[in-house]
Amino acid sequence: MAKKKLKILMVASEAVPFVKTGGLGDVAGTLALELSKAGHEVVLVLPRHYAIDPARWDLKVRLSPLYVHMGNTTMFAQVFETKLEKLTCYFVEYEDYFGRHPLYDDGLDGYKDNGARFAFFSKAALDLAQAVGFKPDVVHVNDWQSALVPYLLKTWGFEGDFYKKTASLLTIHNIGYQGIQPDLSLAPLIGLNWMQLRPEEFESFGGLNLLKGGFFYSDHITTVSPTYALEILGEPGGNGLSTYLERRKSDLSGIMNGIDTDEWNPALDKLLPARFDAKNLAGKAVCKAELQKAFGLEIDPKKPVFGLVGRLADQKGLDLLQACIHELLSWDIQMVLLGTGNPSLESFFGWLPGAYPGKFGSYIGFKPELAHLIEAGSDFFIMPSRYEPCGLNQMYSMTYGTLPIVRGTGGLNDSVQNCEEATGAGTGFVFWDISAGALKDTVGWATYVWYNNPKHYKKMQARAMAQDFSWKKAVKGYEEAYQKAIERRAGWF
Ligand code: ADP
Repeated sequence: MAKKKLKILMVASEAVPFVKTGGLGDVAGTLALELSKAGHEVVLVLPRHYAIDPARWDLKVRLSPLYVHMGNTTMFAQVFETKLEKLTCYFVEYEDYFGRHPLYDDGLDGYKDNGARFAFFSKAALDLAQAVGFKPDVVHVNDWQSALVPYLLKTWGFEGDFYKKTASLLTIHNIGYQGIQPDLSLAPLIGLNWMQLRPEEFESFGGLNLLKGGFFYSDHITTVSPTYALEILGEPGGNGLSTYLERRKSDLSGIMNGIDTDEWNPALDKLLPARFDAKNLAGKAVCKAELQKAFGLEIDPKKPVFGLVGRLADQKGLDLLQACIHELLSWDIQMVLLGTGNPSLESFFGWLPGAYPGKFGSYIGFKPELAHLIEAGSDFFIMPSRYEPCGLNQMYSMTYGTLPIVRGTGGLNDSVQNCEEATGAGTGFVFWDISAGALKDTVGWATYVWYNNPKHYKKMQARAMAQDFSWKKAVKGYEEAYQKAIERRAGWF
């Protein structure tokens, strides 16, 4: 039987290729496009942030004005439209709210009116789909910024029966961000009454928690890996929301993100000095030599190079590396690091190459082409994350024949198979303790395999390069999740 094609409204506060600050933007944009390629009718709605240049994306006015009813007032927005292949993209234009940069904060603190901005956006997304006559089977919302949408759908009856059968699915990209409002001043604007102002729904310590309300009203909930789905059902992973999520446990699933296989493919990667694949690794040796040169390391194919790319943030566990780095660098290994973030980690890792010339190299900054060279030229890749909802770098590493060394959390646990000492099975090295000792021992184990068991290293490398991290699997996972949402919606009322 042919699979039913769905009408999907993807609502997100950011999406590639238009504007992105993190994983949410990667997933929303790529997934919307992939679903449309799979034959679904998909409409993506974003705010028209001022970082999105109308000329660059050929934005055309679609609706002017769009009436958005909020509480007792009607606001007037505009809607722009563009196409990405078969994907229709709408942008809600409202200068007071989206005519600013950065997207969510002034560089230090979140904007004071973030709640009002994204409540407006959530309402506008539904008003606009109704205005253009796009009646979705399912609305897919992402993180707290659009978590009000499931509530609006279930109470839309006041505005007609357009969304009577529409289901909703909420994806949690990072439960650390919840859209917490310090008081109840937003409640009248979004039509919350005493029923919704209880802790089971939106109320939270005298204010509102928009993500929590989303848990209550959405028909299905997903997060970006099966292990993260388990971690957020408890504390500290749930960031205080685990009891509320627990009530929706049977409607929660974890779906790993895919990677962009056009951008991250060692056989086609134009950012590398040479290309390679699993059958011919000569290009990888060229990349390694180039990497050693770029970071001022001793150029020697026999020395194992450990790479690291990422935000220097508490989440990424780089303080663990800092705590054992001197011991690691007393061994016959080399290490390179690319990252920005925490100033004290920046100054430590920026200083380190001076203390270990020829052995340790770093670049403090954001440089995508260098990230590609590190993935391709390293032999191992280190990710000691405290938590990692999905993680992309470990998947890039395996694709590039670079064995990841990871803490077994979230998507790292789901995508890296641990080495088996006796047989050489596995695609990387996994440790579980959040401790410098566990990290040090695991880097030591990888170093041992490199020097003493090259056959096992080769076997693991071939297995890592054969993994399928494309979006195909994820698209299938979301199709199943949409069906679950639709079935549950049918039984609501
Ligand atoms: P997160 O989204 O938590 O930052 P991920 O592993 O999911 O972590 O994705 C990080 C992405 O950002 C990867 O594509 C990585 O290569 C890229 N990246 C992170 N830091 C840098 C940097 N300093 N320079 C270039 N690319 C970077």
